[in-house]
Amino acid sequence: MADKITMGPDGTLQVPDEPIIPFIEGDGTGVDIWPAAKLVLDAAAAKYGKSIAWKEVLAGEKAFNETGDWLPEETILAFRDHLIGIKGPLTTPIGGGFRSLNVAIRQILDLYVCLRPVRWFQGVPSPVKHPELVDMVIFRENTEDIYAGLEVEAFTPEARKMIELLHDAFGWEIREDSGIGIKPVSKFGSQRLQRAALDYALRRGRKSVTWVHKGNIMKFTEGAFQKWGYELVREEYADVAVGWEDCGGDPGDKLLVKDAIADIALQQVLTRPAEFDVIATMNLNGDYLSDALAAQVGGIGIAPGANINYVTGHGVFEATHGTAPKYAGQDKVNPSSVLLSGVLMFEHLGWQDAADDIVRAVEQTISEKIVTYDFARLMEGATEVKCSEFAAAIVERL
Ligand code: NAP
Repeated sequence: MADKITMGPDGTLQVPDEPIIPFIEGDGTGVDIWPAAKLVLDAAAAKYGKSIAWKEVLAGEKAFNETGDWLPEETILAFRDHLIGIKGPLTTPIGGGFRSLNVAIRQILDLYVCLRPVRWFQGVPSPVKHPELVDMVIFRENTEDIYAGLEVEAFTPEARKMIELLHDAFGWEIREDSGIGIKPVSKFGSQRLQRAALDYALRRGRKSVTWVHKGNIMKFTEGAFQKWGYELVREEYADVAVGWEDCGGDPGDKLLVKDAIADIALQQVLTRPAEFDVIATMNLNGDYLSDALAAQVGGIGIAPGANINYVTGHGVFEATHGTAPKYAGQDKVNPSSVLLSGVLMFEHLGWQDAADDIVRAVEQTISEKIVTYDFARLMEGATEVKCSEFAAAIVERL
């Protein structure tokens, strides 16, 4: 019988064999990629005697057209109540009162981790020589730094007041024609993100965690992120993990925790990708890093993502690309991003076998050069198929 996923008293998810999972189809190409992904997810779950009671909830254009509301209360309540949900891309309403629907969902549910695993799938066209060396998992902080969204616009009374205040209180000289942004980075926000990254690395037997920051320039935000990270390792993880400075780079059988300045890290993920494994970083650095890395392994058509609060158990799994409106309804685009987000969701639910089966089947399909237009245009001798045909080919290979 279909039932809700719940959080057990020990802080682990309790997942029934037929969980009710809310989904947002998504705007634009959502009509193409969501049914394709669902076909594969249902087939893989069925192999292990599981099924999913999908519950459609609305957001974006479809919600606005049907209810007059871009993000109906019911949708938030469904995600809150069922803990886990999945979504396609959403149009960002222009002047709709939201900065972005995705950001709104993350903030309302306090989904403090943006999880972006980046690995290469055999056969995927890549601009680098050794994409197989890229196997990183990025934990990007999702609620602070630039996502806190505290800004005042130049030439407004608010900006003038802020400039005066900063001058009077701190003696700071700021040009009068400046806009101002505030970048809060808290110990609480940093350490809960870092704890999630450390727990993930330990659970999965990964070899290192790297704090990526710009602490050489911004000492009390980015630098503090690094400092609090190492403190956390010493205070809570000393028996299983060790910081670089405390072990001289030789962690023995413990997890190695190191750090890298953001600009150098962006170079080295390209030139020495094998040296990076799990990465934990603040919001803006994480934004650049996850998209730069996605490009190395085949671009946004295939990069999955998730937004998670590991304490409450809430998680929303999502395609990382946008709605690509010019392709909407053409049954053309690549459904891999939302499908692999579903794979992340299966892993999160503990359905590892079904998740592994999908990854193998996707790899086999691509290595047989059965691909959608985005890969076909970069491959020699490819068979270009529609979005739905690509999904059917994956199901055949499950
Ligand atoms: P986009 O929708 O991501 O599309 C940019 C380009 O990426 C497309 O033209 C296409 O490249 C490629 N692409 C996107 N989805 C693909 C797929 N499934 N398979 C293969 N290639 C794919 O970005 P945008 O045009 O800047 O944004 C359109 C709307 O989406 C905006 O309203 C934006 O706010 C929103 N958006 C939403 C999210 C989200 O919901 N998470 C994220 C980003 C943007 P080619 O033209 O080269 O084929």
